[in-house]
Amino acid sequence: MTQPTSPEAVTGKLPERLPIMPLFDSVLFPKMVSPLVVMQPDAIKLVDETMSRDRMIGFVLSHKKPTSQPASKDDLHPVGTSTLILKMAKGQDNTIQLLVQGLERFTIKEYLAEKPYLVARVAPMRDVDKTDKETQALMSNVLGLFEQIIQLSPGLPQEMVTMAKTLNDPGTLCDMVTSIINAKLDEKQEVLEIADVKKRLKKVNKLVNYQLEILKLGNKIQTQVKGDLDKNQREYYLRQQLKAIREELGEGDQDKVEIEEYRKKIEAADLPEEARKEADRELDRLARMHPSSAEYTVASTYLDWITSLPWHTGTPDNLDIKKAEKILNEDHFGLDKAKRRVIEYLAVRKLKPESKGPILCFAGPPGTGKTSLGRSIARALGRKFYRISLGGVRDEAEIRGHRRTYVGALPGRIIQGIRRSGSNNPVFMLDEIDKVGSDFRGDPSSALLEVLDPEQNFSFADHYLDVAFDLSQVMFITTANILDTIPPALRDRMEVLQLLGYTPDEKIRIANHFLIPRQRKAHGLKSDQISLTRGAVKLIISGYTREAGLRNLEREIAAICRGAATKIAMEEAAAVVVKVNDVHKYLGPVRITSEAKTRVSTPGVVMGLAWTPAGGELLFIEATAMKGKKGLTMTGQLGDVMKESATTALSFIRSHAADLKIDEDFFENLDIHIHVPAGAIPKDGPSAGVTMLTALVSLLTAKTVIKDLAMTGEITLRGQVLPVGGVKEKVLAAHRAGIKTLILPKWNEKDLHDIPKKIPKEIDFHFVDKMLDVLKLAFNEKNRRQINKT
Ligand code: ADP
Repeated sequence: MTQPTSPEAVTGKLPERLPIMPLFDSVLFPKMVSPLVVMQPDAIKLVDETMSRDRMIGFVLSHKKPTSQPASKDDLHPVGTSTLILKMAKGQDNTIQLLVQGLERFTIKEYLAEKPYLVARVAPMRDVDKTDKETQALMSNVLGLFEQIIQLSPGLPQEMVTMAKTLNDPGTLCDMVTSIINAKLDEKQEVLEIADVKKRLKKVNKLVNYQLEILKLGNKIQTQVKGDLDKNQREYYLRQQLKAIREELGEGDQDKVEIEEYRKKIEAADLPEEARKEADRELDRLARMHPSSAEYTVASTYLDWITSLPWHTGTPDNLDIKKAEKILNEDHFGLDKAKRRVIEYLAVRKLKPESKGPILCFAGPPGTGKTSLGRSIARALGRKFYRISLGGVRDEAEIRGHRRTYVGALPGRIIQGIRRSGSNNPVFMLDEIDKVGSDFRGDPSSALLEVLDPEQNFSFADHYLDVAFDLSQVMFITTANILDTIPPALRDRMEVLQLLGYTPDEKIRIANHFLIPRQRKAHGLKSDQISLTRGAVKLIISGYTREAGLRNLEREIAAICRGAATKIAMEEAAAVVVKVNDVHKYLGPVRITSEAKTRVSTPGVVMGLAWTPAGGELLFIEATAMKGKKGLTMTGQLGDVMKESATTALSFIRSHAADLKIDEDFFENLDIHIHVPAGAIPKDGPSAGVTMLTALVSLLTAKTVIKDLAMTGEITLRGQVLPVGGVKEKVLAAHRAGIKTLILPKWNEKDLHDIPKKIPKEIDFHFVDKMLDVLKLAFNEKNRRQINKT
């Protein structure tokens, strides 16, 4: 073997005779290093021989594909590259692996031998290079494009760009770029055959440009195809997984089973014709849908609803009137008028079953038994009871439902209630119908009208169901605190039954017979384990609750039962008796003192009566005067009407100053301040007129009014007393507060015919129509008696 030669040592020293090896699938360029595999016997012989000489071979591209025959000189191109073998290794199957380095271009002058391998006389083909601006520009263009090609070709390392940039020689740059890019063999050979560097640059420029276009286009197509494929594939893939999981769980045909179940449900539901059609249609759609789609859930929810409604299921009415009466009396004390009305209703139904009864509306303050009366009616009739609160409902859709096209749509509250009650004829209570609002979302009261109208409600259209539901068998009962805020059209549909509230005596009876036994049971106490004396119950009512109804009373009784239960559970006592003096141990100090007595002992303070949705209430009016000049200040959250009353009262006093024995010029040097305490509660209405006037007279004459007096009434400038509203509630409130004398407008006398009989025995009633009579009564005992007799 000869001395190893380095490429540098032999470059430019092309021998005249060179063994030639044909190439079939690549073009070798000067200075480029390439691996090659040799397998033809003649080529192997060539390598063997040159290895022991100068290790140089000329490589030339063949036009033809390789055959088993040795290559012929006619198949070869005229230009090739001389190379030096850097490394040789014998591989398996008689092949040889070579690593060769290109040296320089040559042209073949003539072939000197063909066997055992080709040998040719060659001449070097030197680069013709006149570097100018154009070559520079072409070079940087080629470099730029080449860089992009590398970026778009993940298989080619970035270092190639760095390497290309270090090449100063434009000819070599062309050779390197051409050997790397993916051009056709002919094109590469063409580059090899161009000696003029500028021409070569131009050719390469075209090649890289073309190559880049191809790459870009390829990339674009690739992303598009990938995008389309990804989406479909992902869905497909997930579906397959789902299927596999289901099969694994043994639920393979779940959807089919489900559809069959729905079919059975529809069959069993005994739907009316219209609903049946809608259900079948939805089932058809369901069968065609994929179970994992959102649509499927929508359709199956609808089927659940439509098949679970009690279309034809109701409870038989108990029309045994005696029994019904017994049940109503069992559940409630008093409320005779309401109970009688319910019995009448049942009697008419018994005689004429198809009759459409009126809608009853129980109106009254909270805790007066409206809800529990409704429940009791259901029990008496043997019907189901369902209650919804309409307080704050502003959206028509809450009554009528959302259309199915809405996401998460559901039927309205009426249909929901019907489904929950499981009966098509429940007693359906619509609580707080006076608190239904309306805004941009539609008017719920118009939907309610349809619900409550017997002429329409046999085919109530819920938006979600989209088929009519018959509500005509339902017994609707509504409740309200105030009647004024109920839309007139709705109010017309209803028969109002007023529940006023209870007197303390009634409350004691209800507590003993209903509330205490109920709370006792609720707290797990036996009847001999707890008892409250009458005095204790009375104290709870007067000292801890001030209400028309029974809510707080029941709550306080519950608190006492809790306390007693704790004592018994801790074995501190076997039984608990709660006496007057024990109440504070359970409920804390007395909360409500009789303000009436303490506050009215100064001139300028008078008690009025106010009406609120929670029943009647006492209303203090205080007036004071100070040095000043005709000022009238009013505080305590008073509305305009109340302010007007005060001004009217003042004017009346000024014009009747002499009669009232008040200095006529009193207002010249005075400022007057009227205050109505409990400032957090807004107050308005004309009914405080008499009270304001009396307070001012009391202030200006420095006389206090008689003890335990309250009054209500509107005044005019001429001193008339006009009637006011809510008198019954006010009377009850006055009675609760221990008022002994009441002054009321004469015109309101007729409103009091059905107040509890006990009240007139405990309160002195005075009905007046003139302001001066009010004053006489308020300040003078003697006159009071006199007027009372007339
Ligand atoms: P409302 O619906 O009017 O606010 P509720 O029906 O909730 O009042 O009544 C409050 C409590 O008072 C309930 O526990 C009820 O049973 C009881 N109650 C009300 N009135 C009576 C009555 N006349 N007899 C017996 N208990 C009553």
